[in-house]
Amino acid sequence: MMNTVNTRGALAPLSPSNDPWDPIESLRTYGRHVLTSVEMTVTHLCNMRCEHCAVGDMLVMKEAEFLPLDLMLRRLDEVEHLQTISLTGGEPSFREKTVKEVIVPLLKYAQDRGVRTQINSNLTLDISRYEAMLPYLDVMHISFNYLNGDDFHEVGFANSNHPVPKETAYRMYDKMMENALKLSEAGMFISAESMINYRTHTKLAGIHKLIGEMGCRRHEVHPMYASNFATELPMLSLDETRKAIHSLLDVRDPQMWMLFGTLPFFACSDIHEDLKLIRRLADAPNVTVRNDPDGRNRVNVNLFSGDVYVTDFSDIPAFGNIQTGRLDDIFNAWQTGHPLNKTVNCHCDAAGCCGPNLLVKDMYYKDTDFTVKKANLL
Ligand code: SF4
Repeated sequence: MMNTVNTRGALAPLSPSNDPWDPIESLRTYGRHVLTSVEMTVTHLCNMRCEHCAVGDMLVMKEAEFLPLDLMLRRLDEVEHLQTISLTGGEPSFREKTVKEVIVPLLKYAQDRGVRTQINSNLTLDISRYEAMLPYLDVMHISFNYLNGDDFHEVGFANSNHPVPKETAYRMYDKMMENALKLSEAGMFISAESMINYRTHTKLAGIHKLIGEMGCRRHEVHPMYASNFATELPMLSLDETRKAIHSLLDVRDPQMWMLFGTLPFFACSDIHEDLKLIRRLADAPNVTVRNDPDGRNRVNVNLFSGDVYVTDFSDIPAFGNIQTGRLDDIFNAWQTGHPLNKTVNCHCDAAGCCGPNLLVKDMYYKDTDFTVKKANLL
């Protein structure tokens, strides 16, 4: 049986055939990219300092003041086609006050509106913080790139400005696994994300197995790209990345939903090995490839400054602010006016593809004009 979840009676269960975070869905519905997904940064505090952290430079020791929550709720109200919200950090549950006063109210708002919810967490804190979210949460998203506590220690504290004892890391690793198992048993949909990078690419089979043992319903897999804390890390070649994905598909549990994202392989490629992999992914049961949401159906709002970002591409500064503008207007200005968006704004419906992530294009396809390409593989 396929893995599904339905925490909102009226909404269709999340499943490989129903992923409202994928921008291809709204593109097909509305015939153009519209804003359906709002991600909110609810903290810059974190008890870890991961090697690959996508927001590492923004982490702080002392948090600034939140903007009034009413302002954010008003801006969400104005988003005409809102379908999903995601809450991210730092570790969103780092302070209990944030859980009570910001996270739970936002999740409740979404539930009342029939909007899907996701939170990104490391699950290493007291389980009561996560239990408070359980009634309102569709997806608990965690990072999982480890085979044991030593891996966790090496990866999770690589950017710490003081040495973290191994025993501390082991305790947190055990807590995360115990929390994941208990919360899964209580009905939480946990999606564990692994990166394909220089550390993990030969360990993915073991990582996948542990994710299953923790009761997670979905395994998300994304190649790691050179942004923020990861800028200095060694990058895999496209060939190594392809091999890693094949090796994972060889051994995966076919009952578990596997979601691949931000892949650097496209159906318009002329490379036989790319097309072979894309075909394999398309044919595998319970496997999906999510299109990149950044700037296609999603914006990110910083709840402290009000700044709105349209993409995680680090060279693009804030594109607006919720104190002065509506989210739909900010998104539309990016969609219709920004030259960078035009470079990746392609769509081959039969291949279920709506173009590369800007970082991927920058890293591997600098000279490719995707707007004149067409899928070779349908
Ligand atoms: S949508 Fe763009 S990236 Fe995807 S197959 Fe078509 S041309 Fe290539």
